[in-house]
Amino acid sequence: MAKSTKSSKGQAPRPEISVITPFYNEASGVERFMAELTEVLIGEGLDYEIICVDDGSSDLTLPALLKARESNRRVRIIQLSRNFGKEVALTAGLDHARGQAVIPMDADLQDPPRLIPHLVSRWRDGYQVVNAHRAERISDSWMKRNTAKLFYKVFNAISETPIPENTGDFRLMDREVVEALRCMPERDRFMKGLFAWVGYRTTEITYERPARATGESKWNYWKLFNFAVGGVTAFSTFPLRLFNYIGLAVASLSFLYASLLVIRTLFLGRDVPGYASIMVVILFLGGIQLIGIGVVGEYIGRVFIEVKERPLYLVHKVHGFDEDLRGNGS
Ligand code: UDP
Ligand code: MG
Repeated sequence: MAKSTKSSKGQAPRPEISVITPFYNEASGVERFMAELTEVLIGEGLDYEIICVDDGSSDLTLPALLKARESNRRVRIIQLSRNFGKEVALTAGLDHARGQAVIPMDADLQDPPRLIPHLVSRWRDGYQVVNAHRAERISDSWMKRNTAKLFYKVFNAISETPIPENTGDFRLMDREVVEALRCMPERDRFMKGLFAWVGYRTTEITYERPARATGESKWNYWKLFNFAVGGVTAFSTFPLRLFNYIGLAVASLSFLYASLLVIRTLFLGRDVPGYASIMVVILFLGGIQLIGIGVVGEYIGRVFIEVKERPLYLVHKVHGFDEDLRGNGS
């Protein structure tokens, strides 16, 4: 892997490694994050850039990032016009990164920088994707661990693209993989799924995920549930098919039951009562139909969002993207 390949725009040479980090209200952690990250990158003698995506933070994240940039010109900042969510912020980072390999990392130090040398060494061995697999989720609650487990089980059972269990966005990707990701135009950015979909020569390293260094998680169970639904609908049409199966099963059973009723009425005469059984059948079928319509609605909603073809994100301002860092050893 040559060190100074020209970038696609033909200007500045590519750094070896781009670290991409989305920041949403992480002011309290910026300084510590930069210190720990640059210590590793410089210690390893890597030619790097750090792409910070400010995802519409409303606290002092941006001034903290600008301050970090003052002391290290390899810090580059993309300011989005509002909060677009982590997945989109990551996409913005991928679009702007110029490294020959790219490493997305969270700002809260839950993705430990000390793993970077291991990721890079596997990349140099010839792997194009190096996943960081979480050995244990001790920093997560029982509920989060188990709902995550259930999600991976269901997802992998019904999706054509299996995703590796307990692997977040923290990984290393070769330039070729990044370019493949950038070809995917969908607005629904379920990054774990997209990462898995592109394939390429993949390996993984295992680590124990620490708790958040500062600040608090932006996720709650409702958001996670919607994230999971989004992931499944983006990568599988099984929920749609499921209602074909249910419909088929219910229709077959009804046919049998109807035949039974006809025969019984012919031979044993008419039976007047039946209020309870009719109510049960009506409510049951009504419920199933509503769920079915809801599932169809989920997909139509997503089709609606895709066909509008709105841009995925808007960049308000960038800092440091016209600069060539050759010879600037930070
Ligand atoms: N994040 C973001 N936009 C959002 C929410 C989160 O850019 O709308 C960033 C956040 O600043 C952090 C990363 O995504 O760098 C992971 O967020 P968090 O730690 O809250 O997620 P968790 O680790 O709990 O899954
Ligand atoms: Mg976190």
